Amino acid sequence: MPAPEPLDLLHLGRERVIGSYLLETDGGPALFDCGPATTVETLKRRLAERGLTLPDVRHLLLSHVHLDHAGAAGLLVREHPGLAVHVSAIGAPHLVDPTRLERSARRLYGDMFDTLWGELAPIPRANVNIVGDRVLGLECFPTPGHASHHVCYVDREGTLYAGDAAGVRIQPANYVLPPTPPPEFDLDAWLRTLTEIVRRAPARLALIHFGVAHDPEPHLAQLRERLAAWTSEVEDGATQDEFIAARQADAAALPPGDAAGYEQAIPFWQSYLGLARYVEKQRAAA
Ligand SMILES: [Zn+2]
Repeated sequence: MPAPEPLDLLHLGRERVIGSYLLETDGGPALFDCGPATTVETLKRRLAERGLTLPDVRHLLLSHVHLDHAGAAGLLVREHPGLAVHVSAIGAPHLVDPTRLERSARRLYGDMFDTLWGELAPIPRANVNIVGDRVLGLECFPTPGHASHHVCYVDREGTLYAGDAAGVRIQPANYVLPPTPPPEFDLDAWLRTLTEIVRRAPARLALIHFGVAHDPEPHLAQLRERLAAWTSEVEDGATQDEFIAARQADAAALPPGDAAGYEQAIPFWQSYLGLARYVEKQRAAA
């Protein structure tokens, strides 16, 4: 199997923000993550460029249920009722009944929700498969930290289908950022996840935001370092404005187009809210 390439879903018309991957599995063609409902037409166009229509895709492997990764899943199943959707046990109920997921996302995104994500449709329980250690010939393992229900998949060639567990890197840039949204960002869980990923020595990381990283070790080391640094900034009392100003200063080193891509994939206000909530929970538990 050739090294995977992302299907660019052109979220809000911008290249290299949200991707999906088409892979060949023991169960036939599958997608890894599918983007939000707002990019379904682009997804279908990308499939057509590869000579496929949606019904040719038998399986959808999800990293987690956040809308930039899985928002379109319900629409895809409605249009293609034979599609099997693979997800962790904790994520599954949110696909069958997305009411709570939609409520909390609307709270977070306010007026921007519909523009960013679009419709969130429920998926019949019969289409949902809860993942175990192996799925369609791929290894599957829990990768909490970004979200408690996050999983990754590894194929026989050593490609790790990372979702958000390996961070955000708008390639070809080298810069790796941790997406740390509320309510579930958990530093300790994420650091353990990085150890689990490194232990598997993946040959490459297929990132949703964005592209395939061929240097997993330095990439993951950078993520580990930055996760710890961001958390300590907030532990040390950085306000939201200070945190955002510091991130904009970091981003000033990037080419202008790249900085905008990072900010769209992982808004800094949102990362701040997740870090602040995590720090608060740690203090309450201590
Ligand atoms: Zn994401």
